Amino acid sequence: MIAIMKSKPDYGAELVEVDVPRPKEGEVLIKVLATSICGTDLHIYEWNEWAQSRIKPPQIMGHEVAGEVVEVGPGVDNIQIGDYISAETHIVCGECYQCKTGNYHVCQNTKIFGVDSDGVFAEYAIVPAQNAWKNPKEIPPEYATLQEPLGNAVDTVLAGPIASKTVLITGAGPLGLLGITVAKASGASLVIVSEPSDFRRDLAKKVGADVVINPMEEDVVKEVKDLTDGNGVDVFLEFSGAPKALEQGLQAVTPAGRVSLLGLFPREVTFDINNLIIFKSLEVHGITGRHLWQTWYTVSNLLKSGKLNLDPIITHKYNGLDKFEEAFELMRAGKTGKVVFFPHK
Ligand code: NAD
Ligand code: ZN
Repeated sequence: MIAIMKSKPDYGAELVEVDVPRPKEGEVLIKVLATSICGTDLHIYEWNEWAQSRIKPPQIMGHEVAGEVVEVGPGVDNIQIGDYISAETHIVCGECYQCKTGNYHVCQNTKIFGVDSDGVFAEYAIVPAQNAWKNPKEIPPEYATLQEPLGNAVDTVLAGPIASKTVLITGAGPLGLLGITVAKASGASLVIVSEPSDFRRDLAKKVGADVVINPMEEDVVKEVKDLTDGNGVDVFLEFSGAPKALEQGLQAVTPAGRVSLLGLFPREVTFDINNLIIFKSLEVHGITGRHLWQTWYTVSNLLKSGKLNLDPIITHKYNGLDKFEEAFELMRAGKTGKVVFFPHK
């Protein structure tokens, strides 16, 4: 089979021909129907500091997936050949304090497939059966593969009430764009998006943002206050990882409002915590991974409702894996929303 392999500890990846793997105890083999690129895959491709410390080449890349089960390993009784599945990428231990208390998303012993083991940028892939999520047949593979990042967006947007609320989203990368459609589908009354890239502001509009702001040219806090009778937004959702965006959002959110932080900052961030969080009595949520399996049910329900506007977010579709270098370079340049591959041409 053909696979995208991180073959060397260096920039880039290679298209290789390897044997179709066989599922071991507790694993299933899937025919990959669709797979999408995550920011983490880009870090592995670019071979940044984090990737150098975590990834052990040679390894097949990728973790966002939709596929059909074609073989089942020993001891698997929850999944059958023919099942149409996606996968939670965090492999949790089930034994630590967090797992035992239902907080699997912060398991102390989390492993990630496609990061700590071979992934899904291939014609066939192994998925641990305990991580498989059965999809309804009516969800097309190009949407089903997006459920993992959609889960991040759902946990960010729905960490508190959203219906009828006014919302500021900072950052309209793939995750911020998913956040916009989740917020709109969940009944937010006003979604304001701050994003410096023209291309991504345009996507944000197409996805359903009510107002888009260029933070390099406009005063984000003033614009938000003007749009909310001087009060500020009820909810601030941080999807950029930009320190400036964090500060602007904390200024733009109304006192006693809610904040969800998903974006990861490149370094320590300094800001006036007394005036921007404590005296404003803000409710602040750090968001990581997805709640197992509550978030997957929510994502699946949103998909089934038909209310998510995913088509403008999927900016690039590739039949086959051979143009992967083009896809990664477009993503590096910020010229994409989500990129989806259909490995079987
Ligand atoms: P991305 O880098 O593609 O998108 C970030 C966007 O923020 C870009 O479009 C960029 O132009 C924009 N931006 C930059 N400076 C800004 C500013 N001052 N104001 C507003 N917007 C600004 O990343 P992504 O794939 O969409 O992911 C979003 C963030 O979420 C990243 O930081 C990523 O590391 C993080 N993430 C966290 C988790 C988690 O579990 N916590 C999971 C996945 C991704
Ligand atoms: Zn655990």
